[in-house]
Amino acid sequence: MKRLILAVSLLCSSALAHADLKVFACEPEWGSLAQTIGGEKVSVYNATTGLQDPHHIEGRPSLIAQVRNADLLVCTGAELEIGWLPILLQKSGNAKVQDGQPGSFMAAQQVQLLHIPVKVERSDGDVHADGNPHIQTDPRRIAQVAKALTERMAQLDSANAAHYQQGYANFNTRWQQALQGWANKTASLRGTPIVVHHKSWVYLQDWLGLQEVATLEPKPGIPPTTAHLTNVLQQLQTTPAKFVLHSAYENPRSAQWLSGKAGIPVVMLPSTVGGTPAATDLFTLFDDIIQRLTSVQG
Ligand SMILES: [Zn+2]
Repeated sequence: MKRLILAVSLLCSSALAHADLKVFACEPEWGSLAQTIGGEKVSVYNATTGLQDPHHIEGRPSLIAQVRNADLLVCTGAELEIGWLPILLQKSGNAKVQDGQPGSFMAAQQVQLLHIPVKVERSDGDVHADGNPHIQTDPRRIAQVAKALTERMAQLDSANAAHYQQGYANFNTRWQQALQGWANKTASLRGTPIVVHHKSWVYLQDWLGLQEVATLEPKPGIPPTTAHLTNVLQQLQTTPAKFVLHSAYENPRSAQWLSGKAGIPVVMLPSTVGGTPAATDLFTLFDDIIQRLTSVQG
């Protein structure tokens, strides 16, 4: 009898310690958000790191296995993962997380998107038909995603709904305070003209009032060419920029070339959690982005 009680109590404690909701996050920002809201009630698997280009990921068997076991898929959507997520979903055979199911959560569907093309032409490069998917660089949009994600987590794991609501409330209190601090620090950046490698920063620009005057890619997803970079350099003579921005995962060569020729600094920014050593969660991600932007010597 004693042994039975022991066995039962062991079973209970291991069941309690076991996370209730298995989250597959396509990008680290959503993994971090789900972990912050869910705490010990979730286990999060990040499909990519902050040093990988989320447009181009290989659908490895290990990723398929993770999708197969997931209760909730948290991805950006808006075609960011169009090159790899559909095949993972198909091969996983997991009905719960297919498009349109409660187990499929697309962050881009929770916010207003920018740069929605009137029509998509193949010749325009890698243009996303639903609009620009790189929403995680605007913390106001992250707040909207957080609220919607909390509701979804509570729906899927209703026994822990109150836990998720509390996790969200704690997060949001800290987030709104952080937003105010970031806004105060970045007021002087408004109107600053910049050059960017890829159109990864339209939401950051929207938030901080930065003005994109050129991109190093001739078209979205098309690597910089000498001819295009020469044009950009010429353009900067009449429309100067303060600095050249690129993501941690992008090859810095083109930005460095333009920097040398135009005499403006390069700024490397983490586009997500893990993009730099300092960006360990969503709070320190934006702390680091802002620190890097405000310390540019132009
Ligand atoms: Zn893109």
